[in-house]
Amino acid sequence: MFVSPYNFKKEVMKEFHFGDIKINDTTLRDGEQTPGVVFSEEEKIHIARLLDEIGVQQIEAGTPAMSPSEEKTVKSIVKEGLNASIMGWSRAVKDDIDAVLRTDADSIAISIATSDIHLKYKLRMTREEVLEKAVTMTEYAKSHGFYISLNSEDATRTDLSFLEEFARVGKDAGADRIRICDTLGVLIPASCRYITKRIIKDTKMPVEIHTHNDYGLAVANALAAFESGAEYASTTVNGLGERAGNSSLEGVIMALLKLYNLDQPFKISKIYELSRYVEKASGIPIPPGRSIVGAHMFTHESGIHVDGVLKYPFTYESFMPDEIGASRRIVIGKHSGKHAIWDKLKELGIEADKEHLIEILKVVKKSSERRKSALTDNELKAIAMDIIEGRTPAEASK
Ligand code: MN
Repeated sequence: MFVSPYNFKKEVMKEFHFGDIKINDTTLRDGEQTPGVVFSEEEKIHIARLLDEIGVQQIEAGTPAMSPSEEKTVKSIVKEGLNASIMGWSRAVKDDIDAVLRTDADSIAISIATSDIHLKYKLRMTREEVLEKAVTMTEYAKSHGFYISLNSEDATRTDLSFLEEFARVGKDAGADRIRICDTLGVLIPASCRYITKRIIKDTKMPVEIHTHNDYGLAVANALAAFESGAEYASTTVNGLGERAGNSSLEGVIMALLKLYNLDQPFKISKIYELSRYVEKASGIPIPPGRSIVGAHMFTHESGIHVDGVLKYPFTYESFMPDEIGASRRIVIGKHSGKHAIWDKLKELGIEADKEHLIEILKVVKKSSERRKSALTDNELKAIAMDIIEGRTPAEASK
């Protein structure tokens, strides 16, 4: 265990009320709602397969009512016969539900906004009308045998008593859980715990939390909901989604397994592959400093860090890159030390003695400072060979 032992203090853990935890991954629905992102049918199927291999319990595969091709794609994903439940997303509108029906998905998300601001300015509906719509559409979907997640859009800006009424009437109409949508990403972990606990306690309705990352708290809020007994959290690969995106699949799963040390059935060895595949298919680059899957997660340059990691990886890593299918990279540059250079040269098949090593390091630092970047393996090799063979490296004279 290489995370903080304080995570497991009695005083900390006494606040936890974990239930049976499940993931609803919505990369294919909310993730695709990222501006400019369109997945092809083939890409969606590939992503669904990898999500299934990782052990995600439910895949929100799309919004069938959006287009005939979307409907066809969701149907194709259903036909894959994955272990995961396949969910279609719909507004609280009969035509939307009918489109999900035609895909043979086993589960459905029925969404309607509940906050006064959405009712007044967007839906132009009264609370009574919203309840009536939620009830009739839930009953209609239930009559077709769907497992139902009733979505309260903008739940986190909804009056609690109305949100609870919405959950109660939805439950009576046949909904299996309520999705609390933090549509604008405006919760903090403390209020997320509060709202989750209140809904579970007051309505006995299983809770799904759907968080957005506008303030960088999407994963923290999803975890706070799990701590408070939520059954589902929605996630997306690489945290894709509208504006700052959703809580990330990789962030939530790795935190559950590592930071909380929970015994969960997720197979994480495909996380890196899935993340890079979604990067390519979405056209949204993963920033190098991104948590869990960013290129810099396992790249070390500074002398002190490299020395530590080479001696024992857990000095500067809390999990091994190969656990998620990634690999470690040592970068040579301004912050490098002798140890890193020696190790890197050995990897490149070059033996350097101590004096040469000091000389190589000097040129490397100078070169890196001048270019404001790290060196490639070939550049390091050229400098090393020049010095070992008694030539003045080109860099040294600049
Ligand atoms: Mn969303």
